[in-house]
Amino acid sequence: MMCSINEENLAAETMATTPKLSFKDAECRRCQVLKAQVLLRKTDPYCRDCFMKYAVHKFRSTIGKAHALKHNEHVLLAYSGGLSSGSMVQLVKQGLDSSDTNKMKMVFKPTLLHIDEGLILNLSKDERKATTDFVLEHAKKNGFNIYICSLEYSLALSLNDVKLEMNSYQVEPSVYESQLERLFASVKSLTAKEDLLIRLKQRLIALLATRLNHAKVFLGPNATRLAGQLLSAFGQGRGAHIAQEIGFTDSRTGTVFLRPMREFVDKEVAYLAHFLYVDSVCLPTLSSKLSSTASIGRLTEDFVVTLQSNFPATISTLFRISDKLKSNTVDRNLSDYERDSLCLLCLSAIEESSVCSASTARHISQTISRSGPDGLRNHTSQTIHTTQHKNSASCNSNCISQGKECCKTIDYQIKNDWSTVLCYGCRNTMDDVKEPELMPINYLEEIGLRSRRQLMRQSVEQFLL
Ligand SMILES: [Zn+2]
Ligand SMILES: [Zn+2]
Repeated sequence: MMCSINEENLAAETMATTPKLSFKDAECRRCQVLKAQVLLRKTDPYCRDCFMKYAVHKFRSTIGKAHALKHNEHVLLAYSGGLSSGSMVQLVKQGLDSSDTNKMKMVFKPTLLHIDEGLILNLSKDERKATTDFVLEHAKKNGFNIYICSLEYSLALSLNDVKLEMNSYQVEPSVYESQLERLFASVKSLTAKEDLLIRLKQRLIALLATRLNHAKVFLGPNATRLAGQLLSAFGQGRGAHIAQEIGFTDSRTGTVFLRPMREFVDKEVAYLAHFLYVDSVCLPTLSSKLSSTASIGRLTEDFVVTLQSNFPATISTLFRISDKLKSNTVDRNLSDYERDSLCLLCLSAIEESSVCSASTARHISQTISRSGPDGLRNHTSQTIHTTQHKNSASCNSNCISQGKECCKTIDYQIKNDWSTVLCYGCRNTMDDVKEPELMPINYLEEIGLRSRRQLMRQSVEQFLL
């Protein structure tokens, strides 16, 4: 007999699920007086009051532990209209006007921010209007000011081009609308689309925060979402950036993103929303109505949700692993040389590429799997394309050589060569973007700048040798 373990035995013997507790008439585990209304982790019944005390304490300690906020600091709360960010807004509101003297009052100045992504989700003008009306109403009800901006301004050339409205919003076509539509239409895979959406949204929020003079932004994703993102980050080769991708603090963009809901799983958010009377609007995503295998992100989130429903320790175990992974924090006062080693899209450090790098391995296996047995024979004689550029030293701005590779054609190629300015994960994403020239023009300019600096460094090195 080769191996006696089959999957069923394994599940039955080593991964026994937590027994279900019937919580009808159960007593609150904490105060042992009131009737339980909440069942956490399948075994812990809580009454409403005790659950809310536990949740509020968890929310505040998540923020407090990190010493992330200064007294009276202005903070933007990214609010999508969903349950998780809606509960975050309510918890902040409660914390600010906490009349209970026993509790430490939260002291910072929040303003809401909503990004209208309706365009790339193929929503009609009316549907987009309904969503933004909902978030406007929610902000008004809670006495907060709210800024609303449309996602297409993530492509904007400068901050002055960005249309940002406060406490009102009109769905209007902008110069960037068709560019954003064409950009997303040119992306081959859903995984790359989802990743591109994350990067562009992050860029836009950071731009807006700078314009509004806010150094900190609260983001609303909860533990279930983040655990899915954790596995999906591994799947996309972003293992080195886990600490920033799903940790409490992410300061890669220069604006500090904080995730105060990261200790709450979906079920806790649902109870919170219920007890705090949080209304939400149904938000479609890029993968709505698609099967669970449509993208890496969708697949990992489904996997986590299914696993968590049977094994309530799943998410906390994943988080314990991720908290052990620390990445080097990026110093913002960088020299040009140091800045050139950061990924243009996600601003993580680009790992040194060598002949034996993961991207070379991926390139080889991609070439092999796409070419089939016949094509493979032709490929083996060819050398693997590397991202090094050849520099023709004799070429200058007066160059008139035609047909041959000259400085001008090289410059054009460089401007479209993203591989040198991206980390491994973002390179995979941009590989699937078929019209990269539709990306924000600042990126294209930066690619040109970086490669000119690179050439200059190379020629100085040659001179020194
Ligand atoms: Zn109780
Ligand atoms: Zn990157």
